[in-house]
This record gives sequence, structure tokens and C-alpha cells, in this order.
Amino acid sequence: MQKHDLISDFSEVTPSAKIATMTHGWRAKCLQRLVRLDLPVPRTVALPAETVRAIAAGRPLDCDGVLACFGKRPLVSVRPSPQDPDWGGPSTVLNIGMNAERHAELVKTQGQTAADALYLRFVQRYAISVARLDPDMFDIAEPSAEALRNALRVYRDEMEEDFPENPAQQLAEVLRSVARAWEGTSARLLRQSKGAPADAPLGLVVQEMAQGFGQGISGSGTIQFIDPVTGLPQVTGRFLGQSQGSDIKARGADALYLTRDPRGPSLEDIAPEIFARLAQQGAACRAKLRDEMQIEFTIDDSKLAVIDAVRVPRSSRAGLRIAVDLARDEIITHQEAVLRVEPRALSELLHPQVDPRGPRDVIVRGIGASPGAATGRIVFTSAAAQASAARGEQCILVRRETAPEDIRGMHSAVGVLTERGGMTSHAAVIGRGLGLPCIVGATDLNFDTKELRIVTKSGRTLVAGDLITVDGTTGEVLAGSVEMLPPALDDAFRTLLSWADDARDIGIRANADTPSDAQTARDFNAQGIGLCRTEHMFFEEARLVAMREMIFADTASDRAAALARILPMQRNDFVQLFEIMQGLPVCIRLFDPPLHEFLPHSRDGLRELAEALDRPLSEVTRRAEALAEFNPMLGMRGVRLGIVLPEIYDMQAQAIFEAVVEVGRRGGSITPEIMIPLVSAKREVELVKNRIDAVAAKVRTAKGSDFDFKLGVMVETPRAALRAGDIAQHAAFLSFGTNDLTQMTYGLSRDDAGRFMNIYVQQGVYPEDPFHILDVDGVGELLLIGAERGRQARPGLTLSICGEHGGSPESIAFCRKAGFDYVSCSPYRVPLARLAAAHLALMDRFGHN
Ligand code: PEP
Ligand code: MG
Repeated sequence: MQKHDLISDFSEVTPSAKIATMTHGWRAKCLQRLVRLDLPVPRTVALPAETVRAIAAGRPLDCDGVLACFGKRPLVSVRPSPQDPDWGGPSTVLNIGMNAERHAELVKTQGQTAADALYLRFVQRYAISVARLDPDMFDIAEPSAEALRNALRVYRDEMEEDFPENPAQQLAEVLRSVARAWEGTSARLLRQSKGAPADAPLGLVVQEMAQGFGQGISGSGTIQFIDPVTGLPQVTGRFLGQSQGSDIKARGADALYLTRDPRGPSLEDIAPEIFARLAQQGAACRAKLRDEMQIEFTIDDSKLAVIDAVRVPRSSRAGLRIAVDLARDEIITHQEAVLRVEPRALSELLHPQVDPRGPRDVIVRGIGASPGAATGRIVFTSAAAQASAARGEQCILVRRETAPEDIRGMHSAVGVLTERGGMTSHAAVIGRGLGLPCIVGATDLNFDTKELRIVTKSGRTLVAGDLITVDGTTGEVLAGSVEMLPPALDDAFRTLLSWADDARDIGIRANADTPSDAQTARDFNAQGIGLCRTEHMFFEEARLVAMREMIFADTASDRAAALARILPMQRNDFVQLFEIMQGLPVCIRLFDPPLHEFLPHSRDGLRELAEALDRPLSEVTRRAEALAEFNPMLGMRGVRLGIVLPEIYDMQAQAIFEAVVEVGRRGGSITPEIMIPLVSAKREVELVKNRIDAVAAKVRTAKGSDFDFKLGVMVETPRAALRAGDIAQHAAFLSFGTNDLTQMTYGLSRDDAGRFMNIYVQQGVYPEDPFHILDVDGVGELLLIGAERGRQARPGLTLSICGEHGGSPESIAFCRKAGFDYVSCSPYRVPLARLAAAHLALMDRFGHN
């Protein structure tokens, strides 16, 4: 072969060499930065991706030329250098260049044992990865001269030729096998699963071996300067004498600590100057590479070499603290810190988490519908949950699915697990609202309601009182209690979010129904309440009775009397909400659900109700049956109830206005927003508006006090979106309820979709669960139509989204692009939404897509 046929496109890594991440990969670039920092990096040559591709295609590299960069008879390593460290790559090959002659030399300088170990390691690695021989044949526990001879013999027998002695040939073969491995199907699939494009390029680095074997203090190790779980400063890592590469994994028990440690000897004890130099170099790396790095080093007779540096692998909480600390130290900007934290990672920090370092015994898996983890004893009913809370015992409420009457049980439980349901089922919505870890759709659970136990598909049985942990982040139900990490709502968390607020350009409100939700929303700096679902206020015992009386009332005046009993309680609800949210807008949705949800479903419940109402059981049963609907979600609910039984909305409006007056008298200020649900026609809005205006006038006169309010419409039927132009004539704002709108656009029950959603998504019918990720193509088009028609009819109309999609980065991107004023989401999603909105604004500003 002529010399000019050989590929010679490679560069020695010097401070001024033309090396870029795009062409040579992150490792080559990182090593160049270390060289520029004047760190003791062994001589390194970088092969660009073009060269590696050509090698994979069969073109030979000028390996003699590469080896010449390293002086006489070098030993070298080959390491992968993809563009992104997370894309992985073939593993490192060490000690290329080892042969009989080099071995004899090393016996003299490093001793027989070290020389045998190095040579044997290379033969093993070469035989398995390059010659593709059976790993079992080279599975030798202890290196020795005998083991080395054996390995060389097995190689010769299998390959029918001697182990290659020529270093250039060894290097060529290693490079070829590494380059081809990268092109293989499994490697491609693996990196694609980590976000790499299918044709991601691979660079390689060839580096002179820094031996960790020899006289004096010699060995290898890694060091990093933070705790990878908390992100707090802490030197971690180990040093192993007479070792190199991954020896430390196999012989970890012999390793030294790095800093002084009561548990055993440390590098700092035996070589304080080397340790001090490492610490200094670590600080320089952090400043120059603008991240927390894990440094791989070797010591050869007290001479330190830095052979590699990688980003410290880190938990979400550590990632956040690292970003904030780097910005506080002015190594990166606030904006960069914001962009470095993945919004979805935030939800892990808001709740206790299962410690990833501990063991976990997974009983069953479902959909992680509300993040965080909690441990408690199984209860199967709301009543049992309340009893358990009264005893001060933590419990997990396990139900087939939850219904509005389970709300008190959910309040009493520390976690919820349901067999049925999806991301917008009752349990999921309430769980997220309460910040309660929740798993839904655990379809492998089989409920034996008679025996009060559950049996999993794998045959495990759980009964009331068994201790389990629900991990609502991963959707895993674990046996017993496990190690937990506490929430990380610390100063770093708050600081990062305040930087996010500086950057974002869309409002973030919270969906909050109770004072405690509102307080959470306020604590997370929501800019108001975007949806207060008032029906949840009616499930408390005293109100439930009055509510049932109202439902059973024969005349409008009886109805009004029952509602008059609820009025002061409802007013007090609003006073509390307004006081917490002072100075911020509060959007209250008028009563929405079908009335039968307030009636008991069991015979015992009906009997109790008959007693309470002093009516015959037969009459109560008949009336309850008469209220049943075939499709209650499409029946008499929302504004339809408001039109048919207008006294309910009158009472709610009166309570809202009186609360405004009361809070005003105490010096507070609030402009309430009243929202009408499930509208599909302009006339519905007119009718409700007329009555609410009349109630406002009445309260103004009665209280001798003026106040403002806004009336708006919840757009959650396709017709309301299409007729938004008409509707906006009477509405100061439109808020898209994408839960119902998705349900009605698809004709898909939000409570039943969980049964087949997995199959639909697996088979690609839907790219994602549309109740989870906003369907921008269909439901999104209705949003755009509604927004455009609404704004055309009423310039200055406020637009927002308040369905469960509100907090997801994808829907925030959509709403921001469509010019919406704000999104509203569960209080515990507010931090994520604030960060996601900031990412979008910053990416626009810095020209990313
Ligand atoms: C909606 O339909 O999107 C909504 C927010 O209302 P609810 O979930 O209470 O029906
Ligand atoms: Mg709705």
C-alpha cells in the first residue's frame, strides 16, 4: 500500500489544534481544554468522525504516523469520542502496543507481576473485542505468567496465527473494530434511545498510556468534588494502588479514600501534595469546562496524569444545585443555569423521592399520575383512610378508581393507587392537585372486593394493612418501606425559579380549589388562580346534606332555602381563597358536575339520606334513579344546570361578591373572575350573565359597596371553540378546558380511555395519550380557531388554558406561540411550568428551535 493511500486526517491534541466537538466529539474537545489548562494530560491524538467512518468502510489509517506522535515504542489507549457523552460508544481499549519485547522491558522496569497483568489484559481485550473470540476462553481470574502464556496459546490455537506483535497492526485492528462496532445495529438503537440521531458521528482519541503500575506511589483513580445525589460540595471517588482503567471496580475493596476519612487510609494521608494538586486541578476544570467534572487520573511513581474528565453523572436535585452554584460563582450566566435544568426534572424535587441508590421490590406497575413517593398501609375505603389518619397512621388508599366522594379519603391518605384510569381520571387530577403521590391504571392488580384484597398478575396478594410504597414518579408500587430522599425546595430551587421568572413571557396560574391548594400555589409563586373548581367545596359533611336537600327540593323556594344554608360556608371558602391570593386574580368556575354525583350510591347511603330528609326510602331511591343519566358527562352538567336550576349559580355569585366586599373591608383587594363551564351557545352566556349582573347589583346595594368582577367562559365543547366569536361578545376571557375539549373532540371518555390507551399508543393510533399531551393537530386546531375568532370579536380578550395539559412544556409552547396570556395548572406543576416557559423564551431569544 502506498503511503498516500492511507488516511492521515488526525491531529495531535495541542492547545491550538483545530479540534471541535462537531467533528472530533466531546472527549477530544474536553481533552484539548484540559491541555489548554496546562493539566498533565498524556499526549493524545484525535481522529475526526470522517476518519472513523472511512476506517469503518475499510480504508486504512496511517497508524505508523499516529504512533510516531508518541515517540519510541509507546503503549496507547483508544477511547470513543461521540458528540454527546450520553450517547455512549464502544468501551476503551488499553495497552495497545504490548508485545513480547515490550513485556520483557516492563518486567525490568515495573516487575514481573505488573508486566504480566498489563500484557494479559491487552490479550484478553483484543481477543474478545477485535478477534471476536469466545470470552469464556479468556476468563482468567488472577493474572500470572502462566495465565499469560495460556491466553497467548489459546489465541494462536483459535486464530491459527500468533498474537499480533506489530503495534501499528494492533492499533489498526482495534480502530477498525471500534469504528465498526459504532455502526452496528444494536449500538445505533442504543444511542437513538438516548436521543442521538441514527447517523450520529463518532470521533476517537488515541492516548499515550499513563501507567498506574510501578515504583513509589502508583495507581489510578477518579475524583469529583460534589455529592452526585445532593449536588453539595463533597470530594468523592477512590484511588487504587498498582492499577489502571477499570481495575478499581474489581478490586474496590483495596481502594483508598481520597480525603482523610475515619473509615480507612486515604490518598491525602499518603500523598498530601498530590491530593492538593488534584483539588486545584479540579477547581480549574470546573471553571474552564463550566461544569462539575469527574476526573480520571493515574499516578506513576508520584507523577500525576489526568487522562480524562467527564461530566459528573447526577440526580435531578444535584443538577439543579450545580447549575445554581456555577451561576453564583459567575462561571455561567443565570440564563444558562435556567437552561441547564430540564423542567420535567423539577417535579422530582417537590416531593419525597425513592432513593435511587436503595433496593426496590416492584410489586406492580401503573401510570405515574402524580409524582413523589409515599409509604403507608393499604386501606380500601375512604372511611378506612380517615380512620387511619385519625390514628396518626400513614395509609395508601387503594381503589378500583376514585369518585368525588373519595375526596376526604384522599385528603387522609399519603398516596393513592387505582386499578383503572388515566392521566385525567379523578384520582390523577386530585392527586396532582393535592401533591399526593398517585399511580393509576395499575391494570395488573386484580381486586377481590369481597375478600378485600388484591392479587397481582404475578400472583402476589395484598391485604388491608400491608405496607407498600407508591412511587408516583415512576409508576412503581413497591413492597414495604424504602429509603427516601426528602423534597428539595431549598434556596437553590427558589433561586433558579426566580431566574426563570426573569426570562419568561407567558403567565402561569394555578388550578386551586381549597385554601391549602391556594397556599401551595402562592408558595410556588403562581400569578393567580386560573381555575377554582367549586364543586369540591360541596363534599364536606354539612354541605353535602344541604346539597342533597337542595337536589330533592320540590320548589324553587325550597331549593333557595337549602342553598341559603350553603351560602355562608361558600362565602367563607372564597374569603379564605381571596385572602391568600390577595392582589392576584382568582378565577372561580361555577358549579359543573351532574347532580347525581352528590347522591349516595349504596342502599345504606340511600337509607341514611331518607332519614336525614325525612322521606320514604322508596321516594329517595326513585328520585335518585331519576337523576341518573346514560352519559352524565354529556348530560345535565355545567351551564346546563345553571340554566335549569339557576339558584345554584345565584348563590355562588352572591357568595363570591360578598366575599369580595368582606375582604375589601379588611383592606384586601381582589377582582374575581367568574367562569361559566361547558358552554356551547352564546345564549347560555347571556342568560347566566343577566342573572349574575342582577346578583352583583343586589349585593352592591345591600352592602353599600362597589366592586369589579369579570365574567368569562370556559371553552370545553367543540361548538364553543367554533362559536367563540359570538361567545366572546359576552365574555371578558376565554379559558380552554382541554380535558373536556379533548374528550369531546375525540368522542373519547376521559374516565374510560385508560382501558385501551396503551394499545392505541403502542400501535401508533395516537402518538401519545391526548389527555396527557395536548393533541396539537386536532384539539390544538380548535384552540387556534377559538382564540382567533374570540380575539377578532373582542380585541383584548384574555386567553388561557386550564385543562390538565396546562403545565406540560408542550402545551406551554403551543399556548405561547398562539399568543395566550397564561396557562393554569395544578399547584405542584407551577414550578415546572415556570421553568418550561423560561426555556421557551430563552431558546427563542438565543435562536434555538
Ligand atoms: C377541563 O375540562 O379541561 C377542565 C379543566 O374541567 P374539568 O376537568 O373539571 O372538567
Ligand atoms: Mg371540564
